[in-house]
Amino acid sequence: MSDRILAAVMAAPKRPIEIREYAPPDLAPGAALLRTARSEVCGTDVHLWHGRLSGVPYPIIPGHVSTGVLESIRGPLRGMDGTSLREGDRAVFFDVHRTCGRCRPCAVHRTPTRCIERRVYGITDSADEGLLGGWSQAIYLEPGVHIARLPDCVSFDQYIGGGCGLLTAVHIIERAGVRAGETILIQGTGAVGLSTIALARLSGAALILAIGAPASRLDLARRMGADRVFDLIATSVEERLEQVRQLTHGEGVDVVVEAAGSPRAFEEGSYLARDGGRYIVAGHHTDAGSSSVNAHTAINRKHLDIRGCWGSEPAHFLRALTLLERLGSSVPFEAIGERVYRLDQLDQALADAESMRITKAVVDPGAATSDREMGQRIQARAKPPGSDK
Ligand SMILES: [Zn+2]
Ligand SMILES: [Zn+2]
Repeated sequence: MSDRILAAVMAAPKRPIEIREYAPPDLAPGAALLRTARSEVCGTDVHLWHGRLSGVPYPIIPGHVSTGVLESIRGPLRGMDGTSLREGDRAVFFDVHRTCGRCRPCAVHRTPTRCIERRVYGITDSADEGLLGGWSQAIYLEPGVHIARLPDCVSFDQYIGGGCGLLTAVHIIERAGVRAGETILIQGTGAVGLSTIALARLSGAALILAIGAPASRLDLARRMGADRVFDLIATSVEERLEQVRQLTHGEGVDVVVEAAGSPRAFEEGSYLARDGGRYIVAGHHTDAGSSSVNAHTAINRKHLDIRGCWGSEPAHFLRALTLLERLGSSVPFEAIGERVYRLDQLDQALADAESMRITKAVVDPGAATSDREMGQRIQARAKPPGSDK
């Protein structure tokens, strides 16, 4: 194994991705080094690339959900299931770390995803602090990070196909309180929408509708469990509303999930829900602009219950893992990860993700690329962790 570790760095918004070289980090007690097998390019990474998220400490190593093999451990190290982790184990980790448990959001309001200390690998961790993102041949798992063994029956590609979208979907279904026999409509057929469709089916929803594009994603939406899909481009808002009502005794669905990230989707969504229904807003990870809704007809008179859904908690992570272990073979999660990219192909991966040419770009940091080619892309030798302080 080479003693240099290559990582793809987003130095600043709108700049080409750089390859940087890192020395293997010293492990603090309770830390581990994960040799990355798979990471992903998710919608958030595209937003990061455009600089649409505030408070991001560029340069960063993106890739917040990843999986691999524990290469070294400064143990003992306990997994989330309580058993000891060993070097050589296939493992996954929860990307959110340093949630404090003491701030008002944590301790008083019980909303840990709004913790003021919370950090997220690949998003709010600077590349100057070390290997804290998945677009890297290895990831430093600092003490306190939630780590779990990847079940033997779950492949790296299955795990990353679900990826951050599956974790979010677990949280969405919890927020929605989906009951057996209910009707649900999902706006958006990206990674979050597709996993939400699958979990709605597993939760016993009787009728699952989806709105999205392009056609390839609508096909996948059907494979994930949607009974009926509406092409966002080929149908109008009015047509969709009429058809959804026809399918639901003229009422609208019990639950609408917004996983599209569009202000127009939010405007449409409340009308697709029945009076007294629930509307889960989970697609606006960045500020996509304002929506214009009529509070009287869309919310107040409808007695509509609107719930935001931000981030996820360790319980969602572990339940996503259990779902993959027990039910993953019946849901084509790996099909969401459509194409695999090397570290030196991530500009293309971001462009493909943004244009929706593919459902999800998967990153294989260990994929062979010629040393010469990679050497030409190495822009700078990374500073050792802490040297910027
Ligand atoms: Zn993500
Ligand atoms: Zn906190």
